[in-house]
Amino acid sequence: MSTPVLTIHGAGQTVTGSCFEFAAGQQRLLIDCGLFQGSRSLETLNRQPFAFDPARIDAVLLTHAHLDHSGLLPRLAKEGFGGPIWCTPATRELLTEMLRDAARIQEQEADRRNRRADRADEAPIEPLYTLTDAEDALALVRPVELGTDFHPCPDVTARMWNAGHILGSASIEVTAGGVRTLFSGDIGPDHKSFHLDPAGPSGMDHVICESTYGDREREQVTSDERRAALALEVEEALARGGNLIIPVFALERTQELLLDLARLMNEGRIARRQVFIDSPLATRATVIFQKHRRELEDLGDGEVFRHPAFHFVETVDASMRLNAMSGAIILAASGMCEAGRIRHHLRFNLPRWDSTILFVGF
Ligand SMILES: [Zn+2]
Repeated sequence: MSTPVLTIHGAGQTVTGSCFEFAAGQQRLLIDCGLFQGSRSLETLNRQPFAFDPARIDAVLLTHAHLDHSGLLPRLAKEGFGGPIWCTPATRELLTEMLRDAARIQEQEADRRNRRADRADEAPIEPLYTLTDAEDALALVRPVELGTDFHPCPDVTARMWNAGHILGSASIEVTAGGVRTLFSGDIGPDHKSFHLDPAGPSGMDHVICESTYGDREREQVTSDERRAALALEVEEALARGGNLIIPVFALERTQELLLDLARLMNEGRIARRQVFIDSPLATRATVIFQKHRRELEDLGDGEVFRHPAFHFVETVDASMRLNAMSGAIILAASGMCEAGRIRHHLRFNLPRWDSTILFVGF
């Protein structure tokens, strides 16, 4: 069998849009099919034609559920891909929530732009993909456990390894034509809550490795130092009497923060305050964490997320009522503040001298 050929279709000179095409003889795999996120010009790449024929891809191997690795799967399905999408069981559950949410945002965004009066004479904008496309992609998902050999196509063997990045995340080993290649996916970071340190095979011929912070000396912060820094911010912010608004990523960062806040309150290092989790996606992701608590560290019986100070906000009305609050901690998505309920919390709290906006990820 001939030597495999690798083509890189995304995450080049940028950190989003991960997509590798791996050709082994006549068989073609994709490793990830991610959304480009960030600037407007980057996001226009999401509408460019794929550089390959989606119908000719035999299978997708998915490293994890973050949208910059998975967010173009609905478009791939819409344009003819019908093979299996392999990922871990936890990734499958998270992916279900992430792709449905992404599709709703795409539909709402197209709707909002089409309603603008100054576009009345222009052709309507189609959403990048719809909820139906997302469901079509989700129907293709095939879960596989870490450490199990599987065959995404007849002459290719693959295996998932714990990447220690988010719930369900994996590095993927691919063997074809006698060549062993490891796709790291996103890995780590160190001192992370919930996850065992990353694991991987040795003796690889090629390693395709995430390098997002490869050119930066990052301060090494232990979990306890991180909590101490958070405690200081929380106490200072709430001493002013207003709210503490924290824009959060719904998946993983929300759950990490809840773990830290619960510990700090239980240990008496911060006063007990009402904590509102104002993101339906974050709430659904938290339920999935709770369900997988036995695979995760630090969660015990999952009682952390049932802390009496925590309130998961469901309806839009309940979310709007938080605008009248003072002295609350409000976690809302999106983490980048470009969509979601965080926007109305910013609108109400930015003009308040006594409120604080705390960024915990970017
Ligand atoms: Zn990631």
